[in-house]
Amino acid sequence: MEEFALKDAIDSHFHAGPDVRERKLTYLEAAIQARDAGMKAIPIKSHSTITADIASLIQPLITHPDHLFINMSVEVQKELAQEGVFFDRCFPTEKTSPLRMEEMAKRIREVGVMSSIVTSDFGQPENPSPVEGIKIYIQQLIQLGYSNQEINQMVRINPGRLLNLL
Ligand SMILES: [Zn+2]
Repeated sequence: MEEFALKDAIDSHFHAGPDVRERKLTYLEAAIQARDAGMKAIPIKSHSTITADIASLIQPLITHPDHLFINMSVEVQKELAQEGVFFDRCFPTEKTSPLRMEEMAKRIREVGVMSSIVTSDFGQPENPSPVEGIKIYIQQLIQLGYSNQEINQMVRINPGRLLNLL
């Protein structure tokens, strides 16, 4: 199995405290963990409402397209991808997504690596830390057939492009 180094990777969607909901760690702790893992940047934001988090569409990023409550169809995602939209591929947990990891891997393959951004969306007390989460996510995608180059596109190039745009 290929190894993917987290150096310069970006987790553009995770949660930390202080927040209205309980979080696993503070933004400072998240920043330190990301730095220690050699990651490049972690954006800091806070969601004040659940709905804003679940269905936010910040052109050109669609967050949670594969969330339980959204579950945007592959056809629609493909159309939007052609318009230059990025999709936030949050770690699929049973609580948040109808997709298991194999299905997420398939979804990304169908819509395309070029429009996908792999993020943890972690920070909830019951989940691993964001850095651990993105590590596990990357490892599993590699096991499911993604190359280092494709992972690079989804954790460095695409989020880098997006953050410059926002
Ligand atoms: Zn979120």
